[in-house]
Amino acid sequence: MEFIDLRSDTVTHPTPQMREAMAKAEVGDDVYGEDPTVNRLQEMGAAMTRKEAGLFVSSGTMGNLAAILAHCGRGDEAILGNKAHTFLFEAGGISALGGVHSCQVDNQPDGSLAIEDIEAAIRPDDAHHPVTRLIALENTHNRCGGTYQMPEYTRQVSGFAHQHGLVVHLDGARIFNAAVAQGVVAKELTAPVDSVTFCLSKGLCAPVGSLLCGSKEFIAKAHHIRKQLGGGMRQAGILAAAGIVALDTMVDRLAEDHARARNLAEGLKQVKGLVVDAGSPATNMVFLSLAEAVPFTAEQVVEKMKTLGVRISAVSERRFRLVTHYWIEAEGVEKTIAAFREVLQ
Ligand SMILES: *Cc1c(COP(=O)(O)O)cnc(C)c1O
Repeated sequence: MEFIDLRSDTVTHPTPQMREAMAKAEVGDDVYGEDPTVNRLQEMGAAMTRKEAGLFVSSGTMGNLAAILAHCGRGDEAILGNKAHTFLFEAGGISALGGVHSCQVDNQPDGSLAIEDIEAAIRPDDAHHPVTRLIALENTHNRCGGTYQMPEYTRQVSGFAHQHGLVVHLDGARIFNAAVAQGVVAKELTAPVDSVTFCLSKGLCAPVGSLLCGSKEFIAKAHHIRKQLGGGMRQAGILAAAGIVALDTMVDRLAEDHARARNLAEGLKQVKGLVVDAGSPATNMVFLSLAEAVPFTAEQVVEKMKTLGVRISAVSERRFRLVTHYWIEAEGVEKTIAAFREVLQ
């Protein structure tokens, strides 16, 4: 059975153009820095984020980990949101592997961190405290609903951080969704920060990989850490080739995913038993809950939807996240709405 798969944009398969580019990719040993396709991808990523250099890593998790380990020493503290992907979903790597202490600040509903809260979290110079080193932002913000933050906000946080001698790392797993949603280029959102990670393997449809971008000096350090983490790959140009196609052809079309998400949300609002989050979707994620009267749990609804050919994720007892992407067309949106109606009628 062919499923309509709305669990995540990570389920996207590479496009035919990507497979062709992969087959033809010129390769070399990237541990020696000799893979021309990897080098080209890294240069593209750096240019698109207005950074000096880029580093191809196997995942967004590795990109965030290498970045935070490059910026922070053992016992240093990183300020991040209490709903940050790095805090919730990266297996505690910054603490397990880097000895980095985290300080969680409440995420605002739009995924931002309030400047006052960041300010209050900065440790005074005192032998009792860890040393505050870094602020981590996330844009779009996954657990806050695929919400985005504006260039002005990013500039404000970075300006504030730099005044206090701190660095800013941006988890921009879906930075191009954030940019396209507000009609700006990604650079506007990444130029102010010290480092940024973004994923090629989500809405951009590449099969594997993320890029970490920052200054030359920072990337040299992160490169060393990538090796320590076992992330030095050899003829990785096969993978990077798909990433190049992703950056060349898949960025602007993300607007289509956002439009589909809006159509999906509009349709689901008409289904009795579902409550779509106010303001959802901001980008390609629709968050919704079961109305109180519905006698099923979210997990039970997930199972019933599956039998009707639609795969979705439950994010809590009564809540779902639906993510649109390249492989979801208008027909898939209609089928999903109809399936929910059938399950909940
Ligand atoms: C997916 C995601 C990551 C991690 O990416 P992986 O490639 O799955 O390791 C990091 N941050 C955010 C916000 C994400 O959505």
